[in-house]
Amino acid sequence: MFNALLVNKDEDSGKTSAAVTRIGLDDLPHGDVTVSVEYSTVNYKDGLCIGPGAGLVRKYPHVPGIDFAGTVEESADARYKPGDKVVLTGWRVGEAHWGGYAQKARVNADWLVPLPEGLDARAAMAVGTAGLTAMLAVMALEDHGLQPGHGPVLVTGAAGGVGSVATAILAGLGHEVAAVTGRPEQEDYLRGLGASRIVARSDLTEVTRKPLESELWAGCVDAVAGAMLGRVLKQMKYGTSVAAIGLAGGAAIEGALITPFILRGVNLLGIDSVMQRYDNRLRAWTRIARDLPMDKLESMVQPATLGDLPQLGADILNGRVKGRVVVDVNA
Ligand code: NDP
Repeated sequence: MFNALLVNKDEDSGKTSAAVTRIGLDDLPHGDVTVSVEYSTVNYKDGLCIGPGAGLVRKYPHVPGIDFAGTVEESADARYKPGDKVVLTGWRVGEAHWGGYAQKARVNADWLVPLPEGLDARAAMAVGTAGLTAMLAVMALEDHGLQPGHGPVLVTGAAGGVGSVATAILAGLGHEVAAVTGRPEQEDYLRGLGASRIVARSDLTEVTRKPLESELWAGCVDAVAGAMLGRVLKQMKYGTSVAAIGLAGGAAIEGALITPFILRGVNLLGIDSVMQRYDNRLRAWTRIARDLPMDKLESMVQPATLGDLPQLGADILNGRVKGRVVVDVNA
């Protein structure tokens, strides 16, 4: 028997409740690799799945946790053997399939990535889906021409998970980073990650009908969308790109016009981490191990246990989590 955060749904009231519960190997779903989980983390989607589910969870009882890292215990797949260190993000694990908020997980081998040299299970979960997404966004900007020296790169939702990792990676690569935050008290934290300029969220949330604004940014990693993305697109330098990764400020792009695209050749690059191809995942994890300064990563970490998750799930939905939570499932 081992510990898991189990979410149950009361059929009468429709309410969900999450609690640490003892379960057995036979309770785990089918899959070809069983992993002894060491660490997991908390992303926005985890907040939804620990709580009411928001349509992501179809069947209860459910074990959330969209990310985990640990050691292979049993494998029916030739690519993995007991003792191998692995990391999992995405593939709807923790939503449609039981996830990482347990001391053991059983998954399909196709969903796993071997831990890259230079990252242990704890560091991999300090990175997690948020950090992988940040790296995929930086890679997409680079693939579209971004290089250090081109000018300031804007990161929105900067004190959040994706924003924190994007800030540290970009600054580590030698970019000038302008960090947008609605939490002025996080200025020291963001400067510690390498941001050289802090932009107040309120500077970018007014919806305007102007076709274009002054050219300011050489690139952008946007976690917010909403009115902010509508404004940022109009402030991009000629021929540059915005990597759109999230919707913390709303799913619509308010006030957006076609003008940045057709008059300045601006690109809007969509980034999805969930169904990302294996070779690109491997490339991103390898880049993370090389380009994310580990001291900066450590400064983002808030440690937690399985028992802390119901509160942390609510906190992330309310924008109250700073940086990255690392859940030690064996603590
Ligand atoms: P966090 O909650 O850690 O960070 C989001 C940040 O956005 C907050 O910390 C806050 O930053 C800012 N923010 C929150 N609410 C608003 C608002 N109303 N207006 C403007 N800014 C706001 O989440 P993550 O970093 O983990 O994820 C960010 C987004 O990316 C989410 O929408 C998530 O669903 C999505 N996502 C997408 C992925 C993909 O594959 N494309 C993968 C992972 C996440 P601050 O306090 O600094 O202002």
